[in-house]
Amino acid sequence: MSTDRPRRAALLALVLLTALVLLTALAGCDRGRHHDPAPSDAPRIQATSVTSAAPRTEITITGDFFETRAARNLVFFGPAQAEVIEAQPDRLRCVVPAGAPAGGTQLTVTTRTGTSPPRSFTVLASPGAPAVQRIETTAGQPTEVALPGARLRITGSGFASDPAQNQVWIGPVPASVRTASPTALEIEIPSDAGSGTVGVATNGVASTDGPTLFVCSDTASDLDRDAVGTAAGALLRGAPRTHLLVEIDAQDDGGTVWEPDTSALLAIAARLDERLYKPGAIAVLQPQPFASQRTSWTNADLAALQSGVRDLYSHGNTVVVHVQFVAGSYRDNDRVIGLTWRATEIAVFEQALRDRLGPLSPNASRAEQAVLTHEFGHVLGLVDVGTAMCTPHEDPASPGHDINSDCVMYAEISIRATALQIRQTDFDANCKCDLQRAGGR
Ligand SMILES: [Zn+2]
Ligand SMILES: [Zn+2]
Repeated sequence: MSTDRPRRAALLALVLLTALVLLTALAGCDRGRHHDPAPSDAPRIQATSVTSAAPRTEITITGDFFETRAARNLVFFGPAQAEVIEAQPDRLRCVVPAGAPAGGTQLTVTTRTGTSPPRSFTVLASPGAPAVQRIETTAGQPTEVALPGARLRITGSGFASDPAQNQVWIGPVPASVRTASPTALEIEIPSDAGSGTVGVATNGVASTDGPTLFVCSDTASDLDRDAVGTAAGALLRGAPRTHLLVEIDAQDDGGTVWEPDTSALLAIAARLDERLYKPGAIAVLQPQPFASQRTSWTNADLAALQSGVRDLYSHGNTVVVHVQFVAGSYRDNDRVIGLTWRATEIAVFEQALRDRLGPLSPNASRAEQAVLTHEFGHVLGLVDVGTAMCTPHEDPASPGHDINSDCVMYAEISIRATALQIRQTDFDANCKCDLQRAGGR
């Protein structure tokens, strides 16, 4: 993880190389004698003396077109630059960098003539390397979510007792270490941190990447406050919002907690992963119960509930979508089982859903999947509410819905009477095309 400096050096080197090639090409063109370096002059890696090694281990790279001066060969293990001890045109002796994160990585050699195709290499955990086990609150509760400025504890092994000898990163952003022991570090989340994997380097030796920490806000951003469909781009595209977190609250009316089946939540997480381009991570949090006796909901009631129970809002590189599962039904129309009423706000009338399915509830989980997929479809701007249509497929009788009754974005979810199965479970080809063209997959 301690790779910021080498990475910047590499970028600088590449920019300089690019600039040089461009200047040569431009100058050459002016004189009508354009000359590019022959592609065969670029360095090539044929083999490495070993295919895996711990940091600080010496290895030999054999290949072609290396520079004979050691310093003119830039050898990288992923983002970490290696020291080159000795160089010949067909072999380089170098040391696996101390800052190379353990795990599979790509080895490259860059010289004045170009960069070699990457070669796979495995960096082994060095003996005594720190290891991150889990992230906790300072009260010792495991967590995967934090607010900027919060204090957290990282438990693990191999840390130094002096805080100054440990470095912690959340993604690429360093976090200050407040207290340290060999098995625990207390850190403060910087205000500019986004979500990312947590890594530790102790005395310059890096851990493998630890668990993902989602850094969110506790106040609504514009993204969260806006109208349905306006967050579609942020959700579908990979940048700048690389992470998605789904917060779920479920009503406890004193007798029942109206929460969805775990399998429905796993399925919706998989469905989102399939359609959204999120290079960071997607996570659906466990439902948190809240106590309420209310059995009839208006829009104003849902909004008041949200401001009371929602803990997390979009922040930095992270979009948060909030789903509240409630007892009772929607006052204006008791046939409604799901409602998307703001850019990142969904309500599911879980009791109404179960009532519709009847006492056997053979399809509760499938129905929850269908409703959640449908409501997320609205959050993603389908159909034609924030996300443009590849070909027209909006139902004129039900704006914002698909005219195809086999699509999950049809206005009503229905049960196939013969098989007692939910009829619609997924987006149809028209909806998938819309999502892809707006930046999803
Ligand atoms: Zn709908
Ligand atoms: Zn559709």
